[in-house]
Amino acid sequence: MQQLEFNISEGGGERQTLFCDVLLPVPVPKLFTYRVPFDLNDTLLPGCRVVVQFGKKKILTGIVAEVHDRIPEAYDARLLLEQLDEQPIVQPVQLKLFQWMADYYMCTPGEVLNVALPTGLKLSSQSQVQLHPDFSYRTTEHTFNEKEKLLLDSLQQNQSMSYADVEALLGQKTLYQLFKNLLAKEAILLFEQVQEKYKPKTVRKVRLQEGLVQDRNSLEALFKALESHPKQSDVLLKYLREVPVLQHPERNASGLTKAELVDAQISPSSVRTLVKNGVLEEFEETVPRFWIPDGDSSIDIRLTEDQQKARQQILEHFEDKDTVLLHGITGSGKTELYISLIREALDNGVQVLYLLPEIALTTQIVGRLKKIFGGQMGVYHSRFSDNERVEVWQGVLNGSFPLVVGVRSSIFLPFHNLGLIIVDEEHETSYKQYDPAPRYHARDTALVLSKMHGGKTLLGSATPSVESYYQAENDKYGLVELTKRYADAQLPLIELADTRVAQKHKTMKAMFTQQLVEALKNVVERREQAIVFQNRRGYAPYINCEECSWIPKCVNCAVSLTYHMQANELRCHYCGLKEYVPTACPACGSHKIKTVGYGTEKLEESLRLLVPEATVERMDLDTTRRKNSFQTLFDSFGEGKIDILVGTQMVSKGLDFEGVTLVGIFDADRMLHYPDFRSHERTYQLVTQVAGRAGRSKKPGKVIIQTSNLEQPILERIIQSDYGGVYRNEIRERREYFYPPFSRLIRLVVRHSEKDLAEAAAKELAARLQHKLGKERVLGPEEPLVGRIRGLYLMHITIKLERQGIDMQGVKQFIAAQSQELVSQKDYKKVEVVPDVDPY
Ligand SMILES: [Zn+2]
Ligand SMILES: [Zn+2]
Repeated sequence: MQQLEFNISEGGGERQTLFCDVLLPVPVPKLFTYRVPFDLNDTLLPGCRVVVQFGKKKILTGIVAEVHDRIPEAYDARLLLEQLDEQPIVQPVQLKLFQWMADYYMCTPGEVLNVALPTGLKLSSQSQVQLHPDFSYRTTEHTFNEKEKLLLDSLQQNQSMSYADVEALLGQKTLYQLFKNLLAKEAILLFEQVQEKYKPKTVRKVRLQEGLVQDRNSLEALFKALESHPKQSDVLLKYLREVPVLQHPERNASGLTKAELVDAQISPSSVRTLVKNGVLEEFEETVPRFWIPDGDSSIDIRLTEDQQKARQQILEHFEDKDTVLLHGITGSGKTELYISLIREALDNGVQVLYLLPEIALTTQIVGRLKKIFGGQMGVYHSRFSDNERVEVWQGVLNGSFPLVVGVRSSIFLPFHNLGLIIVDEEHETSYKQYDPAPRYHARDTALVLSKMHGGKTLLGSATPSVESYYQAENDKYGLVELTKRYADAQLPLIELADTRVAQKHKTMKAMFTQQLVEALKNVVERREQAIVFQNRRGYAPYINCEECSWIPKCVNCAVSLTYHMQANELRCHYCGLKEYVPTACPACGSHKIKTVGYGTEKLEESLRLLVPEATVERMDLDTTRRKNSFQTLFDSFGEGKIDILVGTQMVSKGLDFEGVTLVGIFDADRMLHYPDFRSHERTYQLVTQVAGRAGRSKKPGKVIIQTSNLEQPILERIIQSDYGGVYRNEIRERREYFYPPFSRLIRLVVRHSEKDLAEAAAKELAARLQHKLGKERVLGPEEPLVGRIRGLYLMHITIKLERQGIDMQGVKQFIAAQSQELVSQKDYKKVEVVPDVDPY
């Protein structure tokens, strides 16, 4: 045990030895205890970031969870190296949430922290190697082996090298022994380079030399001197016009940006000359990344009578319930309700979080909120740069953003007084994180977070998830319904188009029915707009040799490669692999290779031929990859420059344009036949969302759904927009087959690069689990629809558990322990078991 100092008197004062438990962003289930240097005794607070050594060579940033005086018994505590923040950047309630998520979603708090903190708040740690300053081959008495020499030679050319560089140079991962030997021979030094990743944004500015501002005479003398240099005096004149220092000398300090000074007449080089001559001086200023003008609190949100009533009901429910479900049909004006509730919450001095499934798809809502809440509102978004995320984090911390609008990761922001959370489109699957851990559902986590703050949660949707509606029906949530469209706009008329009959009569053109083509032609003639939906991107899902039926497949995944025409390549949508399109079949040499199936790219091409008078554009992942490309498409559609927009589910929300009077759903069958217990619920939600784009104004809207089987009851419910019918049917089936909301599911994905091993391991794990949990609770193992992804074979085990009368945490610990035991067996060493709680 190491010697510790306790309460040593020093000139009357007493020093106490303190320890702190640190949460580190590593997948280890516990916290680590470090000793607090005496000089930090008074300043170290829970929630502050600290720098610590972890293992032999890693330097990590962690968050202090607790400061205490309990000596750890199992190991000698190391001193922590540095305290990074004077004030906590993580709130106590966040630490509580991280722990809850780790327990519930079967991961470690470190994994939660790793996802929660923006990268800019983590430190990069890189151990660096350099030559010992006294080292020379001529004077050293030691001998060196080949690898050592290789490294030393390389270090003589480079100032320093990182671990990664050395790894690459020597082609080996274990460097510890090598470094140890070289250190002993006094040939190298190791040092740690830790740097903050977050960089404030600065702009380069110029201002007049202070001496010239003070003294009018020297300024006049300067103008005289510049008479023969008209370009430079132009710069000076413009500066004085923009910054009238003669009247307001104090305004010189903030100067002008170079961009403001340079124009058609004034070149950057004239500015540079004046700087060189000491007339102007350059300086840098830190600017916020978000410049949002103050909101206009006078904007009047007028609620209709129905909305007023709904608002009143929500507030009444909040008196005795924490959660309210707002079921409002598309176009019923849920956003106005949200705005009025947000305003009221902010007036009451609490923080508000408005969750959206995906910001890019909801540009219009964010734009509206910005106009009203302006600078009070932070936007947190996965497409933002990391520096932007750090600024939102700090804005929430220091109170400048009492309102945050964001995607699922905004539940990690450092709120301390969260009074209201709105989860818009609560049924959306993008609230669930698939990879990496924590595999959390943001809606469900929001409910827990809200409870921790003593706040309220409003879930909103036109097509609530079966789970949420069930809670509302059973009085766990308050239920409020809005059944009329805003301003009396009518719900669109929904028609089915029978592809089986059309095929029999050979009236199909490129898989479009006459019915849909005629409707599209009519829309274009009336100068209205249409959306065609197909949830499959690329040109064709696969290509096929007509002679021998060869189909190109991905080498890493068990899927066929999708043909992309514009890029002229085959792509794997699971791992991103790209391949050339073969001109001849590699199996039989035939040139008869045809495309099979219909992706958005092919639909776009077909529509240009079928409706030549229309301007057709496409909106999917492939056409919106570049920054701003989504916005450009969105704007052109809004301005009526596009007649027909073809797209994936990207077109299903946010496109609230008056011109849209027709929505075509190209292939409903594929969605309905997807093998998942939620496939009917999903189809209903997706079709209703897409259909909701039509007829949002006075003009009536129409929806045409292409299907080969008109008899499916779900289609009738879609036509009638019979949510209740869908819900009752789903709830009956789920009760019968014991699916959520009646049970809880945990899925274990067992994976390995060899199929036999993955299968054997999954079998053994399932048997172990069945032994205690019983056969009816542990299902599988079975191969999923796509049985191999990125070179790993997958097996699924599904665990179905009762919601009541079961020690859920105990069961999770049992599952984790069994998985751990399995992979610690020699045979299964490289097998991975990934738990997914409440899988989607
Ligand atoms: Zn062939
Ligand atoms: Zn692949």
